Amino acid sequence: SIQRPRSEQLYAEALEHIVGGVNSPSRSFKAVGGGAPVFMKRAQGAHFWDVDDHRYIDYLCAYGPIITGHAHPHITEAITCAAANGTLYGTPTEFEILLARMLKEAIPSMDKVRFVNSGTEAVMTTIRVARAYTKRSKIIKFAGCYHGHSDLVLVAAGSGPSTLGIPDSAGVPGSIASEVITVPFNDLDGLRVALETFGNDVAAVMVEPIVGNFGMVMPKPGFLEGLCKMAREAGALVIYDEVISAFRFHYGSAQTYSAFSDHAAIEPDLTALGKIIGGGLPIGAYGGRKQVMDQVAPLGPAYQAGTMAGNPASISAGIACLEVLREPGVYERMDAQAARLADALQASADKNGIPLTINRIRGSFSAHFCDHPVTNYDEAQDTDGERFGQFFRLMLDQGICLAPSKYEAWFLTTAHTDEDIDATIAAAENAFAAM
Ligand code: PMP
Repeated sequence: SIQRPRSEQLYAEALEHIVGGVNSPSRSFKAVGGGAPVFMKRAQGAHFWDVDDHRYIDYLCAYGPIITGHAHPHITEAITCAAANGTLYGTPTEFEILLARMLKEAIPSMDKVRFVNSGTEAVMTTIRVARAYTKRSKIIKFAGCYHGHSDLVLVAAGSGPSTLGIPDSAGVPGSIASEVITVPFNDLDGLRVALETFGNDVAAVMVEPIVGNFGMVMPKPGFLEGLCKMAREAGALVIYDEVISAFRFHYGSAQTYSAFSDHAAIEPDLTALGKIIGGGLPIGAYGGRKQVMDQVAPLGPAYQAGTMAGNPASISAGIACLEVLREPGVYERMDAQAARLADALQASADKNGIPLTINRIRGSFSAHFCDHPVTNYDEAQDTDGERFGQFFRLMLDQGICLAPSKYEAWFLTTAHTDEDIDATIAAAENAFAAM
């Protein structure tokens, strides 16, 4: 296999100074057999170069935010310009209004928006706002959906923790976990029972409307409609975590995606955003119905603040990213390339007798090593992680960079070329044959 002496050396050094050698556990190679993760030094378009000068085609895409490829010139220019004018003011700026308007236009359920610094913060605050508005405390969430690392949502929390085999985090008090009720995704009967049992105490039902955290998983027909209806009948709010799904499949979010026929029936009260809307810089945002958002300080009693929030660099990068994405044909092209790649992976796995279930939603897909459908977290867990680890390393050694987790999606960008797809298909054919 390929040698990466410089990555090995840097990993040893990093372990001395940074816990686990990584600044997010999902970056470690623990779930794919351990050892040094690859240290990258440069990224351009769909490509990465590691510190040993190997080139990779990137499908990790920083776990979602990088949808226009790395160092897209339009975004780089926006960041450079923002930096030259000062990176942080602690005052409002005009740009924040522009990005807020762009988000509202694309996601009409948001009357008002507030910018924060991460998806975690966005989700955490939607819960506070829902609790303030309903004056109730409990949250219903779905098993395997990951909503960031705040206390309440680190219960049955999906990809990161589940990859490491930690269902809950240490340091989350039982009293907090007892405020969270977990139901299987796509299970309206389970939700009905949870609401019948705890309905009067439930502040919100929180969901990834299209799941990105145990593979890409679509809600079954009627699931979101039923969820919204039942939540409202119980007096609870509906929160959509669209940190992954917004601007991922089309210029808009899951709640406005054409796969759903009745958009009015699936509108949430609050939406959490992150990732793509910052164009690769740190960002989060949340928004929703006016009466609900007006709970937030300085208008209302629910407190949320941020020194870094709405910083000009992140906001400018976000605007530039959305400007690229709203060009005609952008999503169609990613869709077509992902279809070609996913079909070829499936054909090659079939040919080699390797069970593979691909869930593709336009330019993103997950490839599960199993012979059954993946529609909920149990089914995603019941896939062959060892086989994934083997595939992951065979691909890495041929210059294809995937996320080191069997749950994580492959993300296409506007920068992936037909040649990149061809090279990836060839590498996968070799990998499946070697397995
Ligand atoms: N919600 C979802 C659906 C996510 O996928 C993530 C990150 N993977 C988060 C929230 C947390 O976002 P962040 O890492 O920016 O805090």
